Amino acid sequence: MNHFAIAIDGPAASGKSTLAKKLAEKLGLVMVNSGAMYRAATWKILSEGISPSDTAAVLALLDRTTFSCGRDGMLSTIALNGNVPPDDALRSPEVNANVSLTAAIPEIRTLLVDLQRGYLDHSSVVMEGRDIGSVVFPDTPYKIYVDASEEVREARRRAMGETDSLAKRDAADSQRKTAPLVVAEGAVVLDNSDHTVESGLAAMLEILRKQGLAWENEK
Ligand code: C5P
Repeated sequence: MNHFAIAIDGPAASGKSTLAKKLAEKLGLVMVNSGAMYRAATWKILSEGISPSDTAAVLALLDRTTFSCGRDGMLSTIALNGNVPPDDALRSPEVNANVSLTAAIPEIRTLLVDLQRGYLDHSSVVMEGRDIGSVVFPDTPYKIYVDASEEVREARRRAMGETDSLAKRDAADSQRKTAPLVVAEGAVVLDNSDHTVESGLAAMLEILRKQGLAWENEK
């Protein structure tokens, strides 16, 4: 069977995870949160007392760390040397502050992109991140870039009670050399500033329908 990927990219706190999850539920697909993989790598680096800017130490750590990706129900999971990092550790202020540094290391990206592509061996996916439509699955016809105003994104993060310097993270993610955050070729931009989850999901389905996706029970 030919599996396919729906690529959902966009800046931090644009609401793309929530929409990607709803979309995956609606279509019965596995939802892969690629940001969690970069966060897991960052958590591991920090918990070993390594600075993500010390590339040599990071590469040595990669050599002794096995990343394994799977799924729990319809959601992606990641384990490092068999250990699943706790959710609250992945979203800690330290990880928020360092994840863009880790994500700029080409060797980390090569490793994680391979694991991300590996999901298609088993199932079709909705995958969300920064470079899914541009690098991970450039050939998929199904690509959406979810954006939202800076005010709305900052307010969403505050409501989650997280310490997260969004502007700094977005600038680093957009300006890095390897796989920067871009609107991928063929992606349709969805402005999610004023959508509810329901209307955002409806807008996504409409975009995907125009991109040629057909699903059961489509009106
Ligand atoms: O999506 P989330 O905000 O959890 O992603 C955390 C960080 O992981 C991003 O700020 C970015 O540095 C990195 N990331 C990435 N490429 C992806 C997904 C996330 O570089 N595909």
